[in-house]
Amino acid sequence: MTLIACLHTEAILRLDALIEGSRSVTVAAHTHPDGDALGSVSALVCYLRQRRGKDAVAVLSDSPAPSVRTIIPDGAPFLFQDREPEECLARIAGSDLLFLLDCNGFSRTEGLQEAFEASPAPKVLIDHHLNPEREGFTLVFSTPEISSASELLHWILRELPDIGGNVRKFPPETARALLTGMTTDTNNFANSVYPSTFRMASDLLEAGVDRDAVLSALYNQYRENRVRAMGFLQYEDMRITPEGLAYMIATRAVRERFDLEDGETEGLVNVPLSIERVKMSILLKEETDHYRVSIRSKKGWSAQRVAAERFHGGGHENASGGKLFWPGDIPAPEDAAAYLERISRECLS
Ligand code: 5GP
Ligand code: MN
Repeated sequence: MTLIACLHTEAILRLDALIEGSRSVTVAAHTHPDGDALGSVSALVCYLRQRRGKDAVAVLSDSPAPSVRTIIPDGAPFLFQDREPEECLARIAGSDLLFLLDCNGFSRTEGLQEAFEASPAPKVLIDHHLNPEREGFTLVFSTPEISSASELLHWILRELPDIGGNVRKFPPETARALLTGMTTDTNNFANSVYPSTFRMASDLLEAGVDRDAVLSALYNQYRENRVRAMGFLQYEDMRITPEGLAYMIATRAVRERFDLEDGETEGLVNVPLSIERVKMSILLKEETDHYRVSIRSKKGWSAQRVAAERFHGGGHENASGGKLFWPGDIPAPEDAAAYLERISRECLS
């Protein structure tokens, strides 16, 4: 569906009525929230509280990595299941409207899935991934032809009667969080940028968002270790197969050596795509019984297919993710390279 079709008047008015009729609203996004998940959720929570007077709270399965934590505006109420499991479940059960942002279904909320599915409250999906799980939702806004969930949310909020096309009416926290989420998902205007994306950015800058502050918070506050680990992985670890798959494996040992925190490898998987003969790039991050997998590809090669067929995952055509388990998929963590070499031969030849 195109963005224009997604924003048809009837859907916008239904959304407005759902918000109007609600009191306690929970806003969620995918597990291991990235900048777009945190940006879109923050933006919506602040809008619902400040413009609509709702008791809106964000609920996520796990607390964000330090590198993206600052995206959450001061004072915005967020609950994390890894810190406050009981409160999260009670909050979902007690809400009369639920939003899910930046993922295609409740299965991507991991430990919160059951609570969301059990709730009789109306559910609204706002997402830009492929294959939305429409059945579980009262209202779905979904298009892959957009930069980010934050951008889609921007266009939806803009259409709501109380905003009436004037983004200066967005609470400042909402405007800033939307620009931040879009900036991270496009890798600062490098990928998945559409004409609508520039229009959104232009609107938000005119409305007063300080882009320099957004960029500084996102890209100038890393720890030294992160930059050194990125260098190490590119220099010592990266392999490129004859077929053009570049892969890096952030093993537990590498993470310990550089004292790497969750989220600090964000962006690394994009780097090998700058090499001429590389068609696809895969980054593995070791967890207890699996690797978390990030995949990026050049046009003509489907990261989404590889994620779905080989890593129990999904995402977008050229940016996807998933998991690689042992002993289910590979006998032991050391066998990951052989698994990747086989994917290279079978999917990129
Ligand atoms: P990243 O590599 O930045 O973690 O994720 C890239 C894209 O793939 C994101 O849009 C993300 O939502 C999606 N993605 C990452 N991991 C998974 C997963 O385990 N399952 C699915 N379905 N999508 C994923
Ligand atoms: Mn996103």
